[in-house]
Amino acid sequence: MKTNEIMETTSKYVMNTYGRLPVALVKGKGTKVWDAEGKEYLDFISGLAVNSLGHSHPRVVKAIWRQADTLMHVSNLYHIEPQGQLAKLLVENSSADKVFFCNSGAEANEAAIKLTRKYAKQNLGKDKYEIITAKQSFHGRTLATITATGQEKFQQGYDPLPEGFKYVPFNDLEALKKAIGPQTCAVMLEPVQGEGGVYPASKEYLKGVKDLCQQQNLLLIFDEVQCGLGRTGEFLASQLYQVEPDITTLAKALGNGFPIGAMMAKEDVAVFKPGDHATTFGGNPLASTAALATMQVMLDEGVINNAREMGRYFKDKLNSLAEKHSQIKEIRGAGLMIGVELETEGQSIVNYCREQGLLINCVGSSILRFLPPLTVKEKEIDTAIDILDKAMGG
Ligand SMILES: *Cc1c(COP(=O)(O)O)cnc(C)c1O
Repeated sequence: MKTNEIMETTSKYVMNTYGRLPVALVKGKGTKVWDAEGKEYLDFISGLAVNSLGHSHPRVVKAIWRQADTLMHVSNLYHIEPQGQLAKLLVENSSADKVFFCNSGAEANEAAIKLTRKYAKQNLGKDKYEIITAKQSFHGRTLATITATGQEKFQQGYDPLPEGFKYVPFNDLEALKKAIGPQTCAVMLEPVQGEGGVYPASKEYLKGVKDLCQQQNLLLIFDEVQCGLGRTGEFLASQLYQVEPDITTLAKALGNGFPIGAMMAKEDVAVFKPGDHATTFGGNPLASTAALATMQVMLDEGVINNAREMGRYFKDKLNSLAEKHSQIKEIRGAGLMIGVELETEGQSIVNYCREQGLLINCVGSSILRFLPPLTVKEKEIDTAIDILDKAMGG
C-alpha cells in the first residue's frame, strides 16, 4: 500500500488519539527506516526510546522467530524458563532482588503504586498511602498513572481520579521536605524526565531525596521506563546517579520493540503474595525471550559504552551548533537522551528534518528531543547535525 491508502484506512478506523504525521513507515534496519514510498530516514526517535539496539536487530529477530515457533504463551499458572532467565539478568545488573513482568510502562508503574500501597499498609501504618511525584513528570495513561503524572493536561476530563498523590517541583529538595505529611509513604521520580521536556535530576537532588526517604521511612520509586536500559550511558540511570531506589520500573527498550514492562523491587519491599497482582500476558515466553535477547546484546556487545561515547560526541556537536545558531537556548540530557530547548517553536524544525530524512520529535512547544538507537554511529550523528544545521537556516 502507498502512504495515502494507509493513511486513509488508519484515519477512518483507528481512534484519533495521536496527531499522526503524514508518514507510514514500513521497514527498518539499524538506525534507518523506510516509508511506503521507499524514502529513507535516520531514526533519531527510535519509536520513543524503544528500538535501542536499532531496528530488527538480528539476534533479537532470531530469538523471536525461534520462540514463536516453539511456544508463545502459556500464562503465569506455570513456570516460564526465559522469564526466569530475564529476571535473573535484571537482578544481577541492578540493586533489585525480585521482578514482576507486565506489558507496558503504565502497567509497570501501576504495579509499583499497588506494591507501594500494600507495603506501606503492612509495614509503615494503616493510614500511609500518599505518593509524592514531580511536576512535569510522566508516568503513563492509566487512571492511577495519569494521577501520578504531575501534568494537568493528561488528567483533564477523567475525574474522579484516585486519591493519594501530591506534586512538588522537580530538583527542589526543600519543596519535597515540606510536602511530606502523615500519610506520605513514597516518592516517585524519573531520574531524567522524558515527556516533560528532558530534564535530568541533579546529583545532589537525587542523593538528597534518597537520604530524606531513609530518614522519613519512605519508599523511593524510580520510573526508568524511558531513561533506563542504557539510555543515559549506564545500564540504569540509578547507577549513573549512584542512588539505590526501593522500586524501579522499566518498559520501552526492554524488548527492543516487543511490548514488555517490568517492575522490580528489593527483597523486603517485594511483598506481593499469590493473588495480590497479576496480568495474563506478563512475561510470556515470547515477550521474555525477546527481552532476554535484547538485554544480552545490550550488556554483551558494548552497546552501553557506545551510548556513553556517542552521547558525548552528539552533545559536543550540538554545542558547536549552538555557537552558530542563537535560537538554541539550552542543550541538556544524559547519554543519548538529549533535549535541545529553542527560543522558537520546534515543530517546523521537526517537519523540515523529516523532509530531509531525519526523524526527531518535539516535547512541549520548543524542546527538540533526540533518542537515537544506542548503537548509533558517528557518521549518522554527523548527518543528523548537518540536517539540523540546515533546518536552523544553515
Ligand atoms: C513512556 C513512559 C511511560 C508509559 O509507558 P507506556 O508503555 O506508554 O505505558 C511511563 N513512564 C515514563 C517515564 C515514560 O517515558
